[in-house]
Amino acid sequence: MGNRRFDLRRVKLHYSHSVEEIAKALGCHRQTVRLWIKQGLPADSSMRPVLVRGEDLRKFLSGKYSNGKQPMLPGQMYCLKCRARQSPAFEVADLIVVTPNIGTLQGMCPECSTIMFRHVARASWRTSAGNLNVTLKAGQASLDDNSDAALKLHLARWMEGK
Ligand SMILES: [Zn+2]
Repeated sequence: MGNRRFDLRRVKLHYSHSVEEIAKALGCHRQTVRLWIKQGLPADSSMRPVLVRGEDLRKFLSGKYSNGKQPMLPGQMYCLKCRARQSPAFEVADLIVVTPNIGTLQGMCPECSTIMFRHVARASWRTSAGNLNVTLKAGQASLDDNSDAALKLHLARWMEGK
């Protein structure tokens, strides 16, 4: 998926780090670190600033990357900026019909507002979309026949999921 691996050597194993320090050391956004905490990165939030042990951070990040090959859950997309799987904001997505059989789900990352994508096949897009409220749209560029009739036909076929 083109993940840029963080340089984990920059995280000191036996020290606790604030969100700020981690963001600085890894060159990522503070929001990203907060997201990791939400996703299960152990953190001591009994004091301010919240502290994360270097060891936990390393474990979390290496686990995260080795899990990269697991299938995404229904309704999730991958945010390139957060480097994490997310359900789009407001649980809404557009489905851009790219070819008669391939489409792209498109939604907004709830953490950073980046547009996220997920490729779907016509036969299984409903499963991939999970509970998302999907609006079907035609992506004209890749269709063989750009006439309105052809587009309507493609959309209708997608709606039926056949
Ligand atoms: Zn994001």
